[in-house]
Amino acid sequence: MKLKQDWLNQFSQIKLPSAYFMAGGYVKSKQSYGVSNPATAEHLVDMSACDMDEVDQVVQCARNAFKSGVWSCLSPRERKEKLKKLADLIRENAEELALLETLNVGKPIQDSLHVDIPGAAFCFEWYAESIDKIYDEIAPTSKDQLAMVNREPIGVVAAVVPWNFPLDLASWKLAPALATGNCVVLKPAEQSPFTALKLAELAKQAGIPDGVFQVVTGLGHITGQALGRHPDVDCLVFTGSTETAKKFLAYSAESNMKPVWPETGGKSANIIFADADLDKAVDKAIFGAFYNQGEVCSANSRILLEKSIAQQFTEKFIEKAKTLVIGDPLDPNTNMGCLIDRQHAMNVRAAIAQAKMQGAQSHTIELHLDAHLDVDSYVAPTILTDVNPDFNIFHDEVFGPVVAITTFETKEEAVELANHSIYGLAASIWTKDIQKAIILAQQLLVGTVSINTVDALDVSTPFGGYKQSGYGRDLSLHAIDKYTQLKTTWIQL
Ligand code: NAD
Repeated sequence: MKLKQDWLNQFSQIKLPSAYFMAGGYVKSKQSYGVSNPATAEHLVDMSACDMDEVDQVVQCARNAFKSGVWSCLSPRERKEKLKKLADLIRENAEELALLETLNVGKPIQDSLHVDIPGAAFCFEWYAESIDKIYDEIAPTSKDQLAMVNREPIGVVAAVVPWNFPLDLASWKLAPALATGNCVVLKPAEQSPFTALKLAELAKQAGIPDGVFQVVTGLGHITGQALGRHPDVDCLVFTGSTETAKKFLAYSAESNMKPVWPETGGKSANIIFADADLDKAVDKAIFGAFYNQGEVCSANSRILLEKSIAQQFTEKFIEKAKTLVIGDPLDPNTNMGCLIDRQHAMNVRAAIAQAKMQGAQSHTIELHLDAHLDVDSYVAPTILTDVNPDFNIFHDEVFGPVVAITTFETKEEAVELANHSIYGLAASIWTKDIQKAIILAQQLLVGTVSINTVDALDVSTPFGGYKQSGYGRDLSLHAIDKYTQLKTTWIQL
């Protein structure tokens, strides 16, 4: 296992990217913005900030690549070979990618190395392997007619993604979009552009033609908006906040009516019944609430406890939370790092303060940080009890290491509380009564229900939300629907 010093040595040797990626190479923008390491507040690079004209050039380059057929007209098997090569290159460069991810967002290096980067490689491999096994259709028309229904790539796809899982969430969009023959312009979040840029380098190395996968860097309201409003972008896929998704819907309505596919926020409930295996439920609830510093769209940020076990569960949960190792993200022993930046950490602290003012009891795990770390970007894991549904903390997505605990007495009340949200991304149920769990799962208005686990996820299962958590699905073969359009060709025999 690499030690912290090994990572620091590697950091001193790598060249951090600082330009956007167009037509197979890096291009410096006229303007730039600062990117820093949130764990230490150290300035890392001045990153290119693409304006409308630069975004336009990149989109035109994608359009030309699409029209030329260098990618869209390859056979599925040829695209598969190149995407599998990209998956291999991600694995070969896993350490550098993991380091870049951790430097950008402050997540523990072990998570970057063992979860995020292998997840991205597997996602490319899975779609590469799928694409030459999907057949088109012949419709059941009458005998003197032949109606073929074919999937065609949609054209130029823009993907705008957030900072919490930068490479993984980009891969969830890129892999199915590229596998189906589209050209993609990716805009990473301003805080986390490094792995997106490195991925573009690797894609070139894998033989993916110039212009097929490009990366624009810059600020959301400028670079992101330019993509959202661009008349020659055929489809916009988005992961991020509900608030920004609504802006993309407006950009589309005000430009070319491009389909917008939003994957947005959540306030997922973890419902724990008295007959559950409490120790397992505690372990998983810790993961559900605090993994990735709680910066997870499907984080189980609300725990709903059957009243008879509330005290016992809460005591065990607080004890378990004390075992989290919060510290330097480059230290392999750390299992909780810092938040994405000082501003976000401040917002999280404000949400905690508001919950306390409204009557919640707060239990905070003590932080012991090394002096070189930026204490302003860290938030201690916080457990809020006695939370009732009137409190803001019950409804607002905080996106940090904060969990709100509420109690219930009947299963009907549990469902009512869980569904009492504008979001509907995920939920968990803990009980030994599997029949009860399945009936409740049918009543929960969410995209994924995990039973006796939390946040279950696999590339083979669709991921997405009900209500204001978005629509359309990432992952699984269902994601292909977003990146293809159906063409009917009717032959009168
Ligand atoms: P965000 O909405 O602020 O930013 C997401 C992306 O949109 C970034 O690339 C950003 O630059 C861009 N953007 C921001 N403002 C823009 C604007 N006015 N016009 C165009 N583009 C703009 O979200 P975030 O803070 O980066 O990420 C956190 C959010 O992402 C949370 O709400 C979380 O729940 C959500 N999220 C959802 C999923 C999911 O799959 N449902 C997964 C991860 C994160």
